[in-house]
Amino acid sequence: MRVVLLGPPGAGKGTQARELVNRHGIVQLSTGDMLRAAAAAGTPIGLKAKDIMARGALVPDDVVVAIVADRIEQPDARKGFILDGFPRTVPQAEALDRMLAEKGLRLDGVIELKVDEDMLVRRIASRVAEMQAMKLAIRDDDKPEVLRERLRAYRAQTAPLVAYYRKQGALKSVDGMASIEDVTSAVGRVLADAVFRSAPKRAGKKAASKKPAKAKAKAKAKAKAKPSKVNPTKGAPKKAKTASKPASRKAKARKNASSKTRPGRTPKNARKSAKVARARRLTK
Ligand code: ADP
Repeated sequence: MRVVLLGPPGAGKGTQARELVNRHGIVQLSTGDMLRAAAAAGTPIGLKAKDIMARGALVPDDVVVAIVADRIEQPDARKGFILDGFPRTVPQAEALDRMLAEKGLRLDGVIELKVDEDMLVRRIASRVAEMQAMKLAIRDDDKPEVLRERLRAYRAQTAPLVAYYRKQGALKSVDGMASIEDVTSAVGRVLADAVFRSAPKRAGKKAASKKPAKAKAKAKAKAKAKPSKVNPTKGAPKKAKTASKPASRKAKARKNASSKTRPGRTPKNARKSAKVARARRLTK
Protein backbone atom coordinates (compact mmCIF):
# COMPACT_ATOMS: atom_id res chain seq x y z
CA MET A 1 0.00 0.00 0.00
CA ARG A 2 1.33 3.42 -0.95
CA VAL A 3 -0.39 6.39 0.59
CA VAL A 4 0.17 10.12 0.86
CA LEU A 5 -1.11 12.08 3.84
CA LEU A 6 -1.89 15.63 2.92
CA GLY A 7 -2.74 18.46 5.27
CA PRO A 8 -1.42 21.62 6.89
CA PRO A 9 0.99 21.61 9.84
CA GLY A 10 -0.73 20.25 12.94
CA ALA A 11 -3.47 18.48 10.95
CA GLY A 12 -2.52 15.17 12.52
CA LYS A 13 -0.60 13.58 9.64
CA GLY A 14 2.08 12.19 11.94
CA THR A 15 -0.49 10.72 14.34
CA GLN A 16 -2.44 9.04 11.55
CA ALA A 17 0.75 7.84 9.85
CA ARG A 18 1.79 6.06 13.06
CA GLU A 19 -1.65 4.42 13.34
CA LEU A 20 -1.27 3.15 9.78
CA VAL A 21 2.24 1.88 10.51
CA ASN A 22 0.89 -0.12 13.46
CA ARG A 23 -2.02 -1.51 11.51
CA HIS A 24 -0.42 -2.28 8.18
CA GLY A 25 3.23 -2.81 9.07
CA ILE A 26 4.42 -0.43 6.38
CA VAL A 27 6.93 2.36 6.88
CA GLN A 28 6.21 6.00 7.55
CA LEU A 29 8.36 8.30 5.46
CA SER A 30 8.30 11.75 6.99
CA THR A 31 10.45 14.23 5.10
CA GLY A 32 10.31 16.55 8.12
CA ASP A 33 11.78 13.79 10.35
CA MET A 34 14.40 12.94 7.71
CA LEU A 35 15.45 16.56 7.36
CA ARG A 36 15.59 17.04 11.14
CA ALA A 37 17.72 13.88 11.42
CA ALA A 38 20.04 15.17 8.70
CA ALA A 39 20.28 18.51 10.51
CA ALA A 40 21.04 16.78 13.81
CA ALA A 41 23.67 14.63 12.11
CA GLY A 42 25.24 17.76 10.66
CA THR A 43 25.27 16.52 7.05
CA PRO A 44 25.69 19.23 4.36
CA ILE A 45 22.03 18.83 3.33
CA GLY A 46 20.94 18.85 6.96
CA LEU A 47 22.82 22.05 7.75
CA LYS A 48 21.34 23.79 4.72
CA ALA A 49 17.83 22.56 5.55
CA LYS A 50 18.09 23.56 9.21
CA ASP A 51 17.98 27.32 8.52
CA ILE A 52 15.20 26.97 5.98
CA MET A 53 13.12 24.91 8.39
CA ALA A 54 13.70 27.34 11.22
CA ARG A 55 12.18 30.06 9.04
CA GLY A 56 9.15 27.95 8.23
CA ALA A 57 9.95 27.94 4.52
CA LEU A 58 10.20 24.90 2.26
CA VAL A 59 13.45 23.12 1.50
CA PRO A 60 14.19 23.11 -2.29
CA ASP A 61 12.33 20.48 -4.30
CA ASP A 62 15.46 18.78 -5.68
CA VAL A 63 16.78 18.19 -2.16
CA VAL A 64 13.64 16.51 -0.81
CA VAL A 65 12.99 14.62 -4.04
CA ALA A 66 16.50 13.14 -3.87
CA ILE A 67 15.97 12.14 -0.22
CA VAL A 68 12.63 10.44 -0.97
CA ALA A 69 13.92 8.74 -4.14
CA ASP A 70 16.73 7.25 -2.10
CA ARG A 71 14.46 6.27 0.78
CA ILE A 72 11.83 4.41 -1.24
CA GLU A 73 14.60 2.25 -2.68
CA GLN A 74 15.32 0.81 0.77
CA PRO A 75 14.13 -2.77 1.33
CA ASP A 76 11.72 -1.80 4.13
CA ALA A 77 9.78 0.44 1.74
CA ARG A 78 9.18 -2.29 -0.85
CA LYS A 79 5.96 -3.47 0.82
CA GLY A 80 4.57 0.03 0.80
CA PHE A 81 4.83 3.33 2.63
CA ILE A 82 2.99 6.28 4.04
CA LEU A 83 4.36 9.59 2.89
CA ASP A 84 3.91 12.25 5.53
CA GLY A 85 5.03 15.75 4.53
CA PHE A 86 5.85 14.80 0.95
CA PRO A 87 4.96 15.87 -1.67
CA ARG A 88 4.57 19.49 -0.60
CA THR A 89 4.64 21.18 -4.00
CA VAL A 90 3.31 20.30 -7.45
CA PRO A 91 6.83 19.63 -8.85
CA GLN A 92 7.40 17.21 -5.94
CA ALA A 93 4.12 15.44 -6.74
CA GLU A 94 5.13 15.17 -10.39
CA ALA A 95 8.53 13.79 -9.37
CA LEU A 96 6.80 11.22 -7.15
CA ASP A 97 4.52 10.14 -10.01
CA ARG A 98 7.58 9.63 -12.20
CA MET A 99 9.47 7.71 -9.50
CA LEU A 100 6.55 5.34 -9.01
CA ALA A 101 5.81 4.99 -12.72
CA GLU A 102 9.42 3.92 -13.32
CA LYS A 103 8.77 1.02 -10.97
CA GLY A 104 5.37 0.28 -12.46
CA LEU A 105 3.72 1.46 -9.25
CA ARG A 106 1.17 4.05 -8.33
CA LEU A 107 -0.40 5.56 -5.24
CA ASP A 108 -3.32 3.74 -3.68
CA GLY A 109 -4.65 6.97 -2.31
CA VAL A 110 -3.98 10.49 -1.11
CA ILE A 111 -5.70 11.32 2.14
CA GLU A 112 -6.40 14.94 2.81
CA LEU A 113 -6.93 15.79 6.47
CA LYS A 114 -9.25 18.78 6.36
CA VAL A 115 -8.85 21.17 9.25
CA ASP A 116 -9.68 24.67 10.24
CA GLU A 117 -6.71 27.02 10.52
CA ASP A 118 -7.69 28.58 13.86
CA MET A 119 -7.94 25.10 15.27
CA LEU A 120 -4.43 24.28 14.01
CA VAL A 121 -2.94 27.29 15.73
CA ARG A 122 -4.67 26.30 18.98
CA ARG A 123 -3.57 22.65 18.61
CA ILE A 124 0.07 23.53 18.09
CA ALA A 125 0.02 26.09 20.93
CA SER A 126 -1.28 23.43 23.32
CA ARG A 127 1.28 20.89 22.00
CA VAL A 128 4.03 23.42 22.73
CA ALA A 129 2.62 24.12 26.21
CA GLU A 130 2.49 20.36 26.98
CA MET A 131 6.07 19.86 25.83
CA GLN A 132 7.28 22.82 27.87
CA ALA A 133 5.44 21.52 30.95
CA MET A 134 7.29 18.22 30.51
CA LYS A 135 10.54 20.13 30.07
CA LEU A 136 10.90 18.73 26.54
CA ALA A 137 12.57 20.66 23.75
CA ILE A 138 10.13 22.23 21.34
CA ARG A 139 10.64 22.53 17.62
CA ASP A 140 11.99 25.90 16.51
CA ASP A 141 9.31 26.04 13.86
CA ASP A 142 6.49 25.65 16.40
CA LYS A 143 7.04 29.23 17.58
CA PRO A 144 3.93 31.31 16.71
CA GLU A 145 5.55 33.54 14.08
CA VAL A 146 7.21 30.56 12.35
CA LEU A 147 3.99 28.60 12.48
CA ARG A 148 2.24 31.41 10.65
CA GLU A 149 4.91 31.19 7.95
CA ARG A 150 4.45 27.41 7.68
CA LEU A 151 0.73 27.90 7.24
CA ARG A 152 1.36 30.52 4.58
CA ALA A 153 3.72 28.13 2.76
CA TYR A 154 1.07 25.42 2.98
CA ARG A 155 -1.64 27.61 1.45
CA ALA A 156 0.61 28.86 -1.34
CA GLN A 157 2.62 25.75 -2.25
CA THR A 158 0.97 22.64 -0.85
CA ALA A 159 -2.78 23.32 -1.03
CA PRO A 160 -2.70 23.15 -4.89
CA LEU A 161 -1.98 19.43 -4.47
CA VAL A 162 -5.59 18.91 -3.44
CA ALA A 163 -6.69 19.84 -6.97
CA TYR A 164 -3.74 17.92 -8.47
CA TYR A 165 -4.74 14.65 -6.81
CA ARG A 166 -8.46 15.25 -7.21
CA LYS A 167 -7.86 15.44 -10.95
CA GLN A 168 -6.02 12.10 -10.78
CA GLY A 169 -8.99 10.62 -8.92
CA ALA A 170 -6.71 9.71 -6.00
CA LEU A 171 -7.92 12.23 -3.43
CA LYS A 172 -9.87 11.12 -0.34
CA SER A 173 -10.85 13.81 2.13
CA VAL A 174 -11.31 13.12 5.81
CA ASP A 175 -12.52 15.48 8.53
CA GLY A 176 -9.39 16.11 10.57
CA MET A 177 -11.30 18.06 13.22
CA ALA A 178 -12.85 14.93 14.71
CA SER A 179 -11.28 12.96 17.58
CA ILE A 180 -8.09 10.97 16.83
CA GLU A 181 -10.07 7.71 16.98
CA ASP A 182 -12.74 8.99 14.61
CA VAL A 183 -10.15 10.30 12.16
CA THR A 184 -8.36 6.93 12.34
CA SER A 185 -11.60 5.08 11.54
CA ALA A 186 -12.40 7.42 8.67
CA VAL A 187 -8.88 7.02 7.26
CA GLY A 188 -9.22 3.24 7.57
CA ARG A 189 -12.51 3.29 5.67
CA VAL A 190 -11.35 5.44 2.77
CA LEU A 191 -8.13 3.44 2.50
CA ALA A 192 -9.89 0.09 2.46
CA ASP A 193 -12.06 1.41 -0.34
CA ALA A 194 -9.10 2.90 -2.25
CA VAL A 195 -6.96 -0.24 -1.97
CA PHE A 196 -9.92 -2.41 -2.98
CA ARG A 197 -10.52 -0.26 -6.06
CA SER A 198 -6.89 -0.19 -7.14
CA ALA A 199 -6.23 -3.89 -6.49
CA PRO A 200 -4.74 -5.34 -9.70
CA LYS A 201 -6.67 -8.58 -9.19
CA ARG A 202 -9.97 -6.76 -9.44
CA ALA A 203 -8.86 -4.65 -12.35
CA GLY A 204 -7.79 -7.84 -14.14
CA LYS A 205 -11.09 -9.53 -13.44
CA LYS A 206 -12.99 -6.55 -14.70
CA ALA A 207 -11.02 -6.43 -17.89
CA ALA A 208 -11.34 -10.17 -18.37
CA SER A 209 -15.09 -10.18 -17.84
CA LYS A 210 -15.62 -7.21 -20.13
CA LYS A 211 -13.87 -8.60 -23.19
CA PRO A 212 -15.65 -11.91 -23.57
CA ALA A 213 -19.01 -10.15 -23.06
CA LYS A 214 -18.18 -7.83 -25.94
CA ALA A 215 -16.88 -10.68 -28.06
CA LYS A 216 -19.99 -12.71 -27.25
CA ALA A 217 -22.29 -9.89 -28.31
CA LYS A 218 -20.34 -9.52 -31.54
CA ALA A 219 -20.53 -13.24 -32.26
CA LYS A 220 -24.27 -13.20 -31.50
CA ALA A 221 -24.85 -10.31 -33.85
CA LYS A 222 -22.83 -12.08 -36.51
CA ALA A 223 -24.78 -15.30 -36.05
CA LYS A 224 -28.05 -13.38 -36.34
CA ALA A 225 -27.05 -11.72 -39.58
CA LYS A 226 -28.94 -13.24 -42.53
CA PRO A 227 -26.87 -14.82 -45.27
CA SER A 228 -26.40 -12.41 -48.13
CA LYS A 229 -28.33 -13.18 -51.32
CA VAL A 230 -25.27 -12.61 -53.50
CA ASN A 231 -23.01 -14.77 -51.42
CA PRO A 232 -24.94 -17.23 -49.28
CA THR A 233 -21.95 -17.91 -47.05
CA LYS A 234 -21.48 -14.21 -46.26
CA GLY A 235 -22.80 -13.40 -42.82
CA ALA A 236 -23.48 -17.04 -42.07
CA PRO A 237 -22.03 -18.24 -38.78
CA LYS A 238 -18.53 -19.58 -39.27
CA LYS A 239 -19.38 -22.52 -37.07
CA ALA A 240 -21.70 -23.93 -39.72
CA LYS A 241 -18.81 -23.94 -42.17
CA THR A 242 -16.52 -25.92 -39.91
CA ALA A 243 -19.32 -28.18 -38.72
CA SER A 244 -19.95 -29.31 -42.29
CA LYS A 245 -16.36 -30.51 -42.58
CA PRO A 246 -16.29 -34.27 -42.41
CA ALA A 247 -14.71 -35.14 -39.08
CA SER A 248 -12.51 -38.20 -38.71
CA ARG A 249 -13.82 -41.12 -36.67
CA LYS A 250 -11.11 -40.57 -34.07
CA ALA A 251 -11.95 -36.89 -33.72
CA LYS A 252 -15.63 -37.75 -33.33
CA ALA A 253 -14.82 -40.33 -30.69
CA ARG A 254 -12.69 -37.80 -28.82
CA LYS A 255 -15.49 -35.26 -28.99
CA ASN A 256 -17.99 -37.74 -27.67
CA ALA A 257 -15.68 -38.86 -24.90
CA SER A 258 -15.23 -35.30 -23.73
CA SER A 259 -18.93 -34.51 -23.67
CA LYS A 260 -19.69 -33.91 -20.00
CA THR A 261 -23.44 -33.88 -19.98
CA ARG A 262 -24.04 -37.15 -21.75
CA PRO A 263 -20.75 -38.98 -22.21
CA GLY A 264 -20.49 -40.46 -25.64
CA ARG A 265 -23.95 -39.26 -26.56
CA THR A 266 -24.84 -36.24 -28.60
CA PRO A 267 -28.51 -36.11 -29.58
CA LYS A 268 -27.55 -37.05 -33.14
CA ASN A 269 -25.41 -40.12 -32.41
CA ALA A 270 -27.81 -41.14 -29.62
CA ARG A 271 -30.52 -41.47 -32.25
CA LYS A 272 -28.06 -43.30 -34.48
CA SER A 273 -27.02 -45.81 -31.80
CA ALA A 274 -30.65 -46.37 -30.85
CA LYS A 275 -31.29 -47.20 -34.47
CA VAL A 276 -28.30 -49.58 -34.56
CA ALA A 277 -29.42 -51.30 -31.36
CA ARG A 278 -32.91 -51.65 -32.74
CA ALA A 279 -31.53 -53.06 -35.97
CA ARG A 280 -29.37 -55.54 -34.02
CA ARG A 281 -32.32 -56.63 -31.92
CA LEU A 282 -34.33 -57.06 -35.05
CA THR A 283 -31.69 -59.10 -36.80
CA LYS A 284 -31.13 -61.44 -33.86
P1 ADP B 1 4.69 20.01 9.67
O1 ADP B 1 3.91 19.18 8.74
O2 ADP B 1 4.26 19.85 11.08
O3 ADP B 1 4.75 21.44 9.25
P2 ADP B 1 7.16 18.61 9.03
O4 ADP B 1 7.86 17.92 10.11
O5 ADP B 1 6.49 17.78 8.00
O6 ADP B 1 6.19 19.62 9.71
O7 ADP B 1 8.17 19.57 8.25
C1 ADP B 1 8.95 20.52 8.93
C2 ADP B 1 9.71 21.37 7.94
O8 ADP B 1 10.56 20.54 7.14
C3 ADP B 1 8.86 22.12 6.94
O9 ADP B 1 8.36 23.33 7.45
C4 ADP B 1 9.87 22.33 5.80
O10 ADP B 1 10.76 23.37 6.08
C5 ADP B 1 10.65 21.03 5.81
N1 ADP B 1 10.05 20.04 4.90
C6 ADP B 1 9.51 18.84 5.24
N2 ADP B 1 9.05 18.19 4.18
C7 ADP B 1 9.30 18.99 3.12
C8 ADP B 1 9.04 18.88 1.74
N3 ADP B 1 8.43 17.83 1.21
N4 ADP B 1 9.44 19.89 0.93
C9 ADP B 1 10.06 20.96 1.42
N5 ADP B 1 10.33 21.14 2.72
C10 ADP B 1 9.95 20.17 3.57
